[in-house]
Amino acid sequence: MKDPLTRRTFLGASSAIAGTQFIVPGAKADASEPATPSFAGGTSLYETTAELVGKTPFVDTHEHFVDESLRVRGAREEVRHLAAPDFGMLLCHYTDSDLQVAGMPAEDYKQTQAWNVPLSKKWELAAPYYERCRHTGYQLCIRETLRALFDEEDLRADNYERISQRLQEHAAPGFYTRLLRDIANIEYAHVNYLQKPLFAEMEPADLLGVDLSINPLCAPPDLKILEKTLGSKVTTLPEAMAAIDACFDQYGSKAVAIKSQCAYWRSLNFLNADAKDAAPLFKRYARKASLSSEELEIIQGFMFHYCMKKAAEYGLVVKLHTGYYAGHGGMPLARVRDNLSDLCPILKEHPDTMFSLFHIAYPYQDEAIAIAKQYRNACVDMCWAWIINPAASVRFLKEFIMAAPACKLFAFGGDYIPVEMSVGHAAIARRGVTQAIVELIQEGWLAEGDAPSLVERIMRGNALEIFAKNRRA
Ligand SMILES: [Zn+2]
Repeated sequence: MKDPLTRRTFLGASSAIAGTQFIVPGAKADASEPATPSFAGGTSLYETTAELVGKTPFVDTHEHFVDESLRVRGAREEVRHLAAPDFGMLLCHYTDSDLQVAGMPAEDYKQTQAWNVPLSKKWELAAPYYERCRHTGYQLCIRETLRALFDEEDLRADNYERISQRLQEHAAPGFYTRLLRDIANIEYAHVNYLQKPLFAEMEPADLLGVDLSINPLCAPPDLKILEKTLGSKVTTLPEAMAAIDACFDQYGSKAVAIKSQCAYWRSLNFLNADAKDAAPLFKRYARKASLSSEELEIIQGFMFHYCMKKAAEYGLVVKLHTGYYAGHGGMPLARVRDNLSDLCPILKEHPDTMFSLFHIAYPYQDEAIAIAKQYRNACVDMCWAWIINPAASVRFLKEFIMAAPACKLFAFGGDYIPVEMSVGHAAIARRGVTQAIVELIQEGWLAEGDAPSLVERIMRGNALEIFAKNRRA
């Protein structure tokens, strides 16, 4: 772990340029991105802040990495949709959504992920659509990844083969640590592991903590998984509760947090149902009898709220997907819009459970700020947000800092399956954090001397403080 800049270092460097004017030099002729803004003469506030943000390690609070060993082995039989190790993998998980919304046929995209399609064919299929959407955060992440890993400025006809070869070669034992810690300066990352329904151990343990997924326990309860966890039949509500107890006994002290992305398939207005109402319905549920949607809501509501109580008992933060949907072509915006208002009664009913609202609830980030300001037990996580909309994320960060306690914000989660793309995402996040801090100082809202402690807090300190109990290493 690198040492963050001290306050003294920061003040010493920045005080020399007080009063200078912010200018934006013209873009370099051969550069694909705008040049970095700077001050005329001396070390700029931007450069000093960028150095501070660059040297401060991230605690990355949300990823979906697969085991490094599976990547090294190229275990495509064991990992569903594992992309072939070539430039096509840079197009998977998010990037593909923009490509397809920009017109790329789904079948063509699938070919870019395949293990038996020539590279030249993949490039021919992808290039026209990459050009059509290259200015989005998802596509910017490709270029930031290539810069950080391979010193390449862009993905082009004359380098996709070279990049593909390097992507194949670098996937050797230890490459997760090299990419995350040595290149992206991420000291620790939380993983929501998608290959197992509840929980899995991941290595290296001093780099990766894993969330306990509660979807199969409550949204809706999966009888097979409950029975496997309990080790006996589950036919009654007390038995289902015993299965949840067993799950927390087994994984509660190992998990770094609790995770649910059930907002992808249901609303978050979980009913705080009574056991006396849920018990007879659960017996019917276990017999596979038909239940109305209202009756199913009573069961799911009871089980969800029981999990929230268990989270408090084990000191586990509850991470909830809120806001925008990954993928494309299907997002019920009316339900998404209600995510945060649905959570208000839950936040009130579980004052001892800490909730982390993911993805700034984009595009409802104003509501996320209001919730973090109103409820002691609500934090907001910027995971994924920096590539959904980099400009909105800068605005959000500035407004959050000025409205809600800074101790309730986690500034970065890569949210990727391919570890490579989290490197680029971290670079975009650092650029955004830098811009937000510089603008707040220039606009007179933030004292220069407060920047080091604020940056330290939002990039790592809050996560170490709030998740510290469950950090495994
Ligand atoms: Zn995610």
